[in-house]
Amino acid sequence: RWDTILHAGARDAAPETIFDRILRKEIPSTVVHEDAYVLAFRDINPVAPSHVLIIPKVREGLTQLRFATADHAFVLGKMLEAAAKIAADEKLEGFRLVINDGPKGGQEVYHLHMHLIGGRTMKWPPG
Ligand code: ADP
Repeated sequence: RWDTILHAGARDAAPETIFDRILRKEIPSTVVHEDAYVLAFRDINPVAPSHVLIIPKVREGLTQLRFATADHAFVLGKMLEAAAKIAADEKLEGFRLVINDGPKGGQEVYHLHMHLIGGRTMKWPPG
């Protein structure tokens, strides 16, 4: 699987992001959930009354969702499990989960993250 190996090398060479510093607690964040696989903290620039970012603790191969493989299935599941728990903790009547992928998808930080947004009525389609 040379294609996989080559891509893995390119991904591993990707520079660190601010989320690595948040994971190491070098930058403060308001953590709402943490387990062995994911960290969830409040977005610094909330777009709704409740806006939480859920990130995998290990970024290898997961700078963007497009690189996800079956190897990542467990941690991706843990991200959704965390979202369900946080939505319940925040007593959200409704919520939305968003993963932006790539520049045209609106991604700015290249460490996979899922936005959990709630506390107001959502519109569709999103911008
Ligand atoms: P966008 O900025 O378009 O939402 P992303 O999907 O890449 O792009 O989301 C990055 C998110 O990270 C943004 O919502 C931004 O407000 C948030 N963010 C950036 N720095 C911090 C930080 N230090 N603490 C908490 N959230 C942050």
